[in-house]
Amino acid sequence: MDVINPATGEVIEKFVTDTPQTIEEKYQEARAAQPEWGALMVSERVEYIAKFRELMKRDLDTLALDLTKETGKPLQQSKNEVLGGINKLKFFLEKSEEYLSAEKVNEDGNTEEFLAYDPLGVIANISAWNYPYLVGINIFVPALICGNAVMYKPSEFSMLTGRHITRLLHEAGIPEDIFVPVYGDGSVGALLTALPLDGYFFTGSYPTGKKIAEAVAGKLVPVGLELGGKDPLYVTEDISDIEAVADAVAEGVLYNNGQSCCSVERVYVHDDIFDEFITQLKKKMSAWKVGNPMDESTMCGAITRRSHLDYMKAQIEDAKAKGAKVLLGGKIIEGKGNFFEPTLLINVDHEMDVMIEETFGPVIGVMRVESDEEAIELMNDTDFGLTSSVYCADEERGEEILSQIHSGTGYLNCCDRVSGYLPWSGRGRSGLGSTLSKHGLYAFCNPKGLHIRL
Ligand code: NDP
Repeated sequence: MDVINPATGEVIEKFVTDTPQTIEEKYQEARAAQPEWGALMVSERVEYIAKFRELMKRDLDTLALDLTKETGKPLQQSKNEVLGGINKLKFFLEKSEEYLSAEKVNEDGNTEEFLAYDPLGVIANISAWNYPYLVGINIFVPALICGNAVMYKPSEFSMLTGRHITRLLHEAGIPEDIFVPVYGDGSVGALLTALPLDGYFFTGSYPTGKKIAEAVAGKLVPVGLELGGKDPLYVTEDISDIEAVADAVAEGVLYNNGQSCCSVERVYVHDDIFDEFITQLKKKMSAWKVGNPMDESTMCGAITRRSHLDYMKAQIEDAKAKGAKVLLGGKIIEGKGNFFEPTLLINVDHEMDVMIEETFGPVIGVMRVESDEEAIELMNDTDFGLTSSVYCADEERGEEILSQIHSGTGYLNCCDRVSGYLPWSGRGRSGLGSTLSKHGLYAFCNPKGLHIRL
């Protein structure tokens, strides 16, 4: 399978992909190896992840370079991603032993009652390309720490990174039959769903997530889905610094070319400040330089998948046909590579795909609202529920608004951020279950009750 640089269209590497036979062999090896790995102490498995973290630091520049080559992510953002992964690992290193140790929770006469945790066994980690380090770490790290073997399928658009992750985990000492990569496209992912695995953990789009959940439903094993979003952001009229908020919103929309599950996907602005806010947002978005992702000054690199250019174009055409006005951008940039103009739309409404369906690109619609009630109603008018943001000077008012929004994460005066210490979860079409925090560790274990009478 070819690895294509989306900024140039050139084939930069070829991969040998897995077949049903190689996948079956890898599965048998992982199944045989898992009990020994699962019998280690949590602290021993954490030690391997600590080594992996040191190796990520050692290879930072190479990892960032290859990530940029295969996804088109600006080099600076690729470095940020690897550093973000290194930072996120801190949570697992600090907290895993505390959360996974057996705990005496009660005494009943002469019986002591303990809560303990068993690994699930052999699990699948079917991963996405947009933040392959960050979304991968959410799954394979806690899965390994909990004592599971992991069959890991990187996206076909981030196989160089998948190979680096594998190399570094093995170099850290994690056995080759405990962290097992499988390479190929979606059909290879589908082959994993046919295996008798003990858990399926998927990061990607709602349609694929639904397909996977349906395919494995009869196995009655845990399924975790981290899916897409249509994340709203509301700006109230009391904010003191409109320019600073517009700057933050531009970053929430355009970072990683808008190809983030928690990108800001729709904006609501109070009528009193709408015009000034739009002037500032247009100025800020115009400053995001599009170009060669290898250039350190580039802020918007290439769009990773070529087919996505037409998808975004169609959303904009649909919005224009229904009355939207394009204030900035709106077009595919012709020439070599997959580039799209940062795009700002106004006069938008919820009849338009751009305000309802995930865009996953550098495109934003901004809508005028008259009140918090109207903003809340519109923010909740979605099938998704990953993150929501409110920019508001009054903390009590901001928190009250957030409490009424159906999403797994709420942000006040910030957006587009993830912490290892907090659960990452989606409502509705944004997913099932949770990663990160203690919930993201327990997702990879079976709880066990032990009644000990001596
Ligand atoms: P896809 O759903 O297209 O693919 C995700 C993974 O599933 C890839 O490895 C893909 O392989 C594989 N796959 C495709 N078809 C099947 C199948 N039938 N059976 C098993 N596996 C399959 O997602 P995208 O790559 O387009 O990722 C972008 C999406 O991911 C966006 O919706 C984004 O919001 C979401 N996302 C959610 C996150 C979250 O934390 N909630 C984080 C990051 C992204 P291949 O790529 O090789 O075809």
